[in-house]
Amino acid sequence: MSFSKYVLDNTNKELSTLENKEIYIQLLNYVKEQADKKALNSDKKKVYYISAEFLIGKLLSNNLINLGIYEEIEKELNAANKRLSDVEEAELEPSLGNGGLGRLASCFIDSISSLGINGDGVGLNYHCGLFRQVFVKNEQHAEPNFWIEDSSWLRDTDVKYTVPFKNFNLTSTLKRIDVLGYKKDTKNYLNLFDIESVDSSIIENGISFDKTEIEKNLTLFLYPDDSDKNGELLRIYQQYFMVSNAAQLILDEAIAKGSNVHDLYEYAYVQINDTHPSMVIPELIRLLTEKHGIEFEEAYTIVQKMTGYTNHTILAEALEKWPLEYLEEVVPHLVTIIKQLDAVIREKYEGEDIQIIDKDDRVHMANMDIHFSNSVNGVAYLHTEILKNSELKHFYELYPEKFNNKTNGITFRRWLEFSNRPLAAYLKDIIGDEYLTDATKLEKLLAFVDSKEVAAKLEEIKHENKLVLKEYLKETQGIELDENSIIDTQIKRFHEYKRQQMNALYVIKKYLDIKNGKLPERKITVFFGGKAAPAYIIAQDIIHLILCLSELINNDPEVNKYLNVYLVENYNVSVAEKLIPATDISEQISLASKEASGTGNMKFMLNGALTLGTLDGANVEIDELVGRENIYIFGKESDEIIKLYETAGYVSKEYYEKDGVKEVVDFIVSDDLVKLGNKERLERLYNELLNKDWFMTLIDFEEYYAKKEEMLADYENRELWMKKVIANIAKAGFFSSDRTIAQYNEDIWNK
Ligand code: PLP
Repeated sequence: MSFSKYVLDNTNKELSTLENKEIYIQLLNYVKEQADKKALNSDKKKVYYISAEFLIGKLLSNNLINLGIYEEIEKELNAANKRLSDVEEAELEPSLGNGGLGRLASCFIDSISSLGINGDGVGLNYHCGLFRQVFVKNEQHAEPNFWIEDSSWLRDTDVKYTVPFKNFNLTSTLKRIDVLGYKKDTKNYLNLFDIESVDSSIIENGISFDKTEIEKNLTLFLYPDDSDKNGELLRIYQQYFMVSNAAQLILDEAIAKGSNVHDLYEYAYVQINDTHPSMVIPELIRLLTEKHGIEFEEAYTIVQKMTGYTNHTILAEALEKWPLEYLEEVVPHLVTIIKQLDAVIREKYEGEDIQIIDKDDRVHMANMDIHFSNSVNGVAYLHTEILKNSELKHFYELYPEKFNNKTNGITFRRWLEFSNRPLAAYLKDIIGDEYLTDATKLEKLLAFVDSKEVAAKLEEIKHENKLVLKEYLKETQGIELDENSIIDTQIKRFHEYKRQQMNALYVIKKYLDIKNGKLPERKITVFFGGKAAPAYIIAQDIIHLILCLSELINNDPEVNKYLNVYLVENYNVSVAEKLIPATDISEQISLASKEASGTGNMKFMLNGALTLGTLDGANVEIDELVGRENIYIFGKESDEIIKLYETAGYVSKEYYEKDGVKEVVDFIVSDDLVKLGNKERLERLYNELLNKDWFMTLIDFEEYYAKKEEMLADYENRELWMKKVIANIAKAGFFSSDRTIAQYNEDIWNK
């Protein structure tokens, strides 16, 4: 049945008479009905991808694409004088994730489904997500980000479990979102556990709330502030709630399929995405021993065969270590198991750094994962090498067979087919559409690397995308983009290791250059986007600096002809989908060794932006794939940085004193800037850069500035630039999450 007929039958109204929101709801129901016709994947073994976050983005268009009806619906809407892009705006973006980790999980469940693998996502249904970012007086403020509407992609189920805590039990409910594979007859689920008694009326003053009211707050926020004990306890409540539900679901589904529980590993594989779901290991062991009468040793052997751990970071502060005492307060029944696991390891191995419970009675979640799973993977080549050779060296020596690399990937359905429709359509014209299911076929584009016609068309598409971005930013953020400027973009969570502050220093230098009469050939628009964790003060100071610079530069008539700077508010998937296709320069400038992989870098490359980056994370693989002539690499390499940390050899003042650096850093506390902002914040940031600078901003600043100048000069050689663009798009196929998931499936889930 056509969609217009569906609308007429359901509402008694013509499509052309409906508001965009009404059309959205009709489409939502229409898609759900199509999804109902799909069978669930049903292979004997099922994968459970457990993750604290799923940054899924809006679902309407993605589902239309995966159902293969996007164009058809677009045409019907156009015939009724409606635009699908306007209808898309009526959907609220789900708020179930934070950054790269959650976006990766979302690309993965798309690929799992698209490859027809039996595998579900499992997580929590946060009602207010992380937070909605708003800017007031050039500072970030956090507000609850409510996203669940009466009509939504969430489906209710009858599944309920009892989750035992020390002082009370909580009953869960399970909501599900269909995960439709690309043009597949089958589907999977994203399982999101929730509590029925969640109560948002306890939120006051931004995103503060009583952290002890677990029955009301458990699924309110993703990553609630854990800077105090009650915050840490709440995170433990959330994590245990997530994995206890997951473990009960896994056992139920396996038993329903015929498992006698001794063979559970033949029915289920659990991928632990970072350490947040680590408690699934002792929880499965607890259920196997207490509920199913299995001996402890057999129980942990079963669990070991069916779990794998993905490490996403080498930042020590991000590897969770829960105080045993806190776990005792929340889940004493799990502490018993964790202590038994610790005893098993202590009996076998010496060496304090590989124990599960340390001398200070803290439980190292990653250590537990490594001992009691059968796979440990990093997320890019360099990252895995660093794990093996330094961060997790002792574990690698114990279990070399467990370690493997799975370089991250992205789904091309969302990040090309949907977000860059003009490029996707043109690629289909010249190289066919096989790349949608076999991304390596993008390499066919290499045959056109010298084609003036292809170059001209790609330039035209980039310009078209800049116009789309311009309209979007004007409507949603009141930003006036100059579509003829070079777009230089850094969008990702704010963190010192990602070095947005180095880019801000570049902006200052450019501003000073212009003031001194050194004018750019062409106007540059620098975009930043990202949230800073509410408890991360310096990251918020960096946001403040950028907002002050933005106000100063965009309002200075001498400068704003040549340079604009914007920090987009509330960066999320929807904003990324507009910014990435319009970007020329992709900023991937983390301190070498600190970015595990990055996936933004892959999205930009696929959309024809050139990378300005350090040899960090997956940039290393981009560099190898495209060749050094097609990427702009600068900065110290990871070996050198790791050595500097070991020897405490970096002294920021030594770099500050160099010619040309001092005046740029000093500008942070200049009268020009201080009058627009908060002196305390700017001074704190200035002092941090001068006296500490833990993530070595200044070590690469000069090289960074020089490389960006080279890049801007190259941009003017349009022929040269477009050759690089073509090479980048052509080589992006490796970064399809279909490739990544096929590797997980072969090397880990079905080894
Ligand atoms: N947020 C969104 C919306 C993204 O799409 C991505 C990745 O592309 C990220 C965060 C993570 O960015 P990065 O990989 O640059 O850290």
